[in-house]
Amino acid sequence: MAHLAIESVSKLFGTTFAVNDFSLEVGDGELVCLLGPSGSGKSTLLRMIGGFERPSGGTIRIDARDVTNLPPERRPTGMVFQSHALWTHMDVFNNIAFGLKLRRLPKSEIRARVENALDMVGLADYGRRMTTQLSGGQQQRVALARSLVLEPKILLLDEPFASLDQHLRERLREEVRDIQQRLGITTLFVTHGQDEALALADRIVVMRDGRTEQIAPPSTIYRQPQTAFVAGFIGSMNFVQSRTRNGVCDHPLFPLAVPVDDGPVTLATRPEALTIRPSDRADAARVHRIVDFGTHKMVDVDLADGSRLKAMVAPDDRIEAGMKVEPSFTSFFVFRDNTLVHQGAPARTSAELGRLLPV
Ligand code: ADP
Repeated sequence: MAHLAIESVSKLFGTTFAVNDFSLEVGDGELVCLLGPSGSGKSTLLRMIGGFERPSGGTIRIDARDVTNLPPERRPTGMVFQSHALWTHMDVFNNIAFGLKLRRLPKSEIRARVENALDMVGLADYGRRMTTQLSGGQQQRVALARSLVLEPKILLLDEPFASLDQHLRERLREEVRDIQQRLGITTLFVTHGQDEALALADRIVVMRDGRTEQIAPPSTIYRQPQTAFVAGFIGSMNFVQSRTRNGVCDHPLFPLAVPVDDGPVTLATRPEALTIRPSDRADAARVHRIVDFGTHKMVDVDLADGSRLKAMVAPDDRIEAGMKVEPSFTSFFVFRDNTLVHQGAPARTSAELGRLLPV
């Protein structure tokens, strides 16, 4: 078990910050996902923690010890890469045993530890196979075992399952979570897949342009996004541009009491917070398309102003394409300049709204 502290770490490539004044503490046994679009600095940050890249500034500590300038082999970290680079001229056993042999451990101990690692990743009978005879998922398991066998204090995983199909990816990430919890190993997991982060993490760090947008547990990231970027990156979100005047949004469909200064705002609401019901109004919205996912239907609704919203409805909902509908919603977020300025539920009655609308 180990505690990791990243203090104001930056990495410059030329004149571009890949990581910019980044700080994070990861507790004993915690699994933190670094989530963000391609190019947001996730890999660079992980490589600096593993010692494969030297920071331009800042400090990295593991259990209070400054490891910022130590080479990888002198850090208590183990890294699993997306391209696992297994040795093709060695069998599985020797791939995993390699690091232990470098440490000159007794043969009997090497055997015991490799067998234990193989067992942990579900490959107990595969020791004598050549790595070229393994499937992609099995190769990734060997790569994981190769790291685990060295008993690192901190496990670093850089999109380890990105090249695998979805079912296998889901299975392997569950296995990783099981192993990680069983060993209580402090773990950082880089991914650009929100599902992966939501399924795995104790906490998620959403990154953008080398900086942190938000650090929080998955449910908080989903329910209380602090920026419009996080709101749009995690899950599905409807955005509507509007303005506030005298504490009310002036969007014709969504006149809402919003206690912020006059000016432009972005309204956001999740598809599951949006309900639609048939309407006869001339300016009603119209159902454009319905996709049936089995567990729910996703409905694209075109508003009179040309914008499109997504609403999630029950699988047995009788909604049809072309129908005129009136959307309403149960909760919403308001952002200004990317920052959350208000979160709430709309006023319930038209009388309430009437009182709110400026005359
Ligand atoms: P992510 O893992 O989120 O996709 P990276 O950490 O790989 O992001 O990259 C962050 C930024 O740093 C990108 O703009 C990338 O082009 C740049 N970058 C990464 N590695 C290098 C390098 N060795 N030389 C120059 N630029 C790099």
